[in-house]
Amino acid sequence: MKMHNFCAGPSILPREVVEQTAQAVLDFNGTGLSILEISHRSKDFQAVLDEAVALFKEILNIPEGYSVLFLGGGASMQFCMVPYNFLQKKAAYTDTGVWAKKAYKEAKLFGEVEVVASSADANYTYIPKNFTVPEDVDYFHFTTNNTIHGTEVRFDPEVNVPMVADMSSDIFTRPIDFSKYICVYGGAQKNLAPSGVTFAIVRNDALNKVDRTIPLMLNYQTHVDGGSMFNTPPVLPIYSAMLTLRWIKANGGVEEMARRAKERADLLYGEIDRNKLFRGTCHVEDRSYMNICFVLNDEYKELEAEFIEFAKARGIVNIKGHRSVGGFRASCYNAMPLESVQALVDCMKEFENLH
Ligand SMILES: *Cc1c(COP(=O)(O)O)cnc(C)c1O
Repeated sequence: MKMHNFCAGPSILPREVVEQTAQAVLDFNGTGLSILEISHRSKDFQAVLDEAVALFKEILNIPEGYSVLFLGGGASMQFCMVPYNFLQKKAAYTDTGVWAKKAYKEAKLFGEVEVVASSADANYTYIPKNFTVPEDVDYFHFTTNNTIHGTEVRFDPEVNVPMVADMSSDIFTRPIDFSKYICVYGGAQKNLAPSGVTFAIVRNDALNKVDRTIPLMLNYQTHVDGGSMFNTPPVLPIYSAMLTLRWIKANGGVEEMARRAKERADLLYGEIDRNKLFRGTCHVEDRSYMNICFVLNDEYKELEAEFIEFAKARGIVNIKGHRSVGGFRASCYNAMPLESVQALVDCMKEFENLH
């Protein structure tokens, strides 16, 4: 049976990326060696890292003066690296979900944190608007896509201070104006690669501005100087990331990724809004293109487990919502084919006919 995997993360990758990764595990570049067994400092792997960095810059149109780093520790490690490296006195954060909250809690260990807006009052079902960011902060941090709750900021906000963004779950799904950011980071396992690698794009001249001493491994400068090779980087996930970047480029870049994301989201939200059994959980204007959250209407609430089984019988898996939201979440990252979204929509229609 054809499987349609809507997992929120680690999530699906383009089929050819999975196949080429599997091939490299058996025989990397015709060397007769597995990519698992070679030195990260070998010529062959250095070429992979260089290509991954170059493609990052090309596809996202990253200006001169920024470094693309591949690190360990996940996006969660960035929650502390960001304030360690950039927070001298005070930073502004928005509180738009579980991840955003973890980020500002960590920042509080390093200085004053002003939470300028929060949607916690409505279980993070919307993106706060009309807030002001004080001008005396070192940076403004926000989460572009709230993976758990299903809201998204699909633009680069206008503020008068440098920005930092957690783009774990929507990097490479739209063009970004990097000149507004000193740091953009994310775990790779949502939209780029298997888990194990974290990307951080840092503006070089924003580094070394804080007074504190930063441990070597947590200092971005160490990894800029070491070209992401200060210590052993996650070799296999970087290889897969490079393959995904090739795939994005060959498939029309971020403009085309944005078009496909909207097409998938329009199809699924359209059905959620039409179908008498279901409703969306977030404010319409803030709905994520990546993580589409919905629930059964109250009078059909008891059908939740049945719908999950019904979908599973049709090859549609991993649609259970996060425990803090309930209901369903269909994650539709770049690699998600429209046919899989159509399969879910057809399944929802079929289920409606039964009830
Ligand atoms: C998944 C996720 C994280 C956590 O990433 P880890 O790599 O597991 O630390 C952080 N932020 C967002 C927006 C996420 O989706």
